[in-house]
Amino acid sequence: MGNPTAFKEIARDTAPYRKITVRLQDYGELYTARDEHRLHSQSARCMDCGIPFCQSNDGCPVSNLIPEWNDLVYNDRWRDALDRLHHTNNFPEFTGRVCPAPCEGSCVLGATETPVTIKNIEYAIADRGFEEGWIVAQPPHTRTGKKVAVIGSGPAGLAAAAELNKAGHTVTVYERADRIGGLLMYGIPNMKLGKDLVERRVQILRDEGIGFVTNADVGGSGENAIDLTQLRADNDALLLCTGATNARDLPIENRELKGIYQAMEFLHANTKSLLDSNLEDGNYISAKGKNVIVIGGGDTGTDCIGTSARHGAKNIVNFELLPNPPEERAADNPWPQWPKIMRVDYGHEESRQLFGKDPREYCLMSKSFLGDDAGNLTGITTVKVEWTHVDGQWKMAEVEGSEKTWEADLIMLSMGFLGPEQYTAQAAGIEVDERSNYKAAYDDFRTSVDGIYAAGDCRRGQSLVVWGIDEGRRAAAEVDKYLMG
Ligand SMILES: Cc1cc2nc3c(=O)[nH]c(=O)nc-3n(C[C@H](O)[C@H](O)[C@H](O)COP(=O)(O)OP(=O)(O)OC[C@H]3O[C@@H](n4cnc5c(N)ncnc54)[C@H](O)[C@@H]3O)c2cc1C
Ligand code: SF4
Repeated sequence: MGNPTAFKEIARDTAPYRKITVRLQDYGELYTARDEHRLHSQSARCMDCGIPFCQSNDGCPVSNLIPEWNDLVYNDRWRDALDRLHHTNNFPEFTGRVCPAPCEGSCVLGATETPVTIKNIEYAIADRGFEEGWIVAQPPHTRTGKKVAVIGSGPAGLAAAAELNKAGHTVTVYERADRIGGLLMYGIPNMKLGKDLVERRVQILRDEGIGFVTNADVGGSGENAIDLTQLRADNDALLLCTGATNARDLPIENRELKGIYQAMEFLHANTKSLLDSNLEDGNYISAKGKNVIVIGGGDTGTDCIGTSARHGAKNIVNFELLPNPPEERAADNPWPQWPKIMRVDYGHEESRQLFGKDPREYCLMSKSFLGDDAGNLTGITTVKVEWTHVDGQWKMAEVEGSEKTWEADLIMLSMGFLGPEQYTAQAAGIEVDERSNYKAAYDDFRTSVDGIYAAGDCRRGQSLVVWGIDEGRRAAAEVDKYLMG
């Protein structure tokens, strides 16, 4: 620890995003240029607490060695900081940008003060590493002769492929989409994670010897189908990292109207059109001039808001079924747990700026979609709900007389995901659990079929990029044990 009293003297100062009015004009990343002076003083706030909860179970899922790299940044030893960071995390340039930072929620300084800006420091280390040319392909010196197929190229699949390749196995990643990256590519929008960054990392993995096959639907039945049984026969092991792509629907009256989409239909099409043609091919769902309603929150809801704002929506409203969270931690949500508090994400800020108010409307239940004679969406009716805590359980009841009609030309459903699509599991003959995830324990990642492993959102359910990386790394170690004894 470079400066033992800095945590008392220096206030938390997070790296600002670009000005809202400027960033709304493009799809560039939200972030401003790295300010090493700020990072130096912010890293000094790390206080050598003795038991760094930030890198324990409640904190960082990949157990990043946070106090170590904070100290190295403070001492201007960026290269060493990068080595420490890569020791636990294959893709810090992704997590440093998109991770909600549970580490900061459990930072010991955060128990009484504001936490260290860990996430800002993480992505600064990674970005500096790329700028300096320190992050380059490091192919393995020897090959084991074993072949592994990884199905799905999200953070779990990529982290697993990187680790298995490092161990000398010959790895091929099969991806159903036309680009590699899973939700890093076609879920999280460019504003949060530039796609050039995803491609830069994939190129390094390619240069290290990993094979990538796109438009490859393993276990599927269409023209891009790859036979799973044959793939298993051609490889010494398979690792399924197919994500939780089965989106929850809202089967209320008039669901069939034109203008109601799953959030992922909207976000995927936008990124693809942006990358293919800078939106000139028109192959996306436009929110321009429309009354947009996003049903459901979370990162996905925010991304729909931010994308609609960039299209030039007329108005944006975001329905939440739950009540608004408290400004401060509630008594039953103590440190070092993840703080369930009111947050203002980039999309909310932008909507406030454009329309003068926060887009979120709480305790709203959707009752029916409304349409015209041509089958186009024109609105939605809702009712207010009340939540009460009875016998340790939350109970919801509709509030009489609270019905309301909202105008809408475009509605996005962002209500979470119900596990992986089932056809891959069926083709592989593996068991699924009661939540329809592939059945495999966290510590060994083995499915019910010998030599087939599963990791990431397809195993644990909808989660985070950092959990994907963690599962990919751990599953790779188990596959390696299976192959090498
Ligand atoms: C819109 C959105 C925004 C998000 N924002 C954040 C965020 O800001 N921060 C954060 O930490 N997390 C965020 N998440 C969650 C995070 O992206 C996921 O938890 C993470 O990507 C899961 O990684 P994964 O590798 O398990 O699966 P995924 O990233 O879902 O990748 C799975 C891949 O498998 C492919 N696939 C599926 N079936 C097959 C098949 N049969 N054959 C071949 N390929 C197949 C899919 O096409 C996909 O590319 C967000 C999620 C969404 C939907
Ligand atoms: S990966 Fe997430 S939890 Fe881990 S140090 Fe980075 S921001 Fe924190």
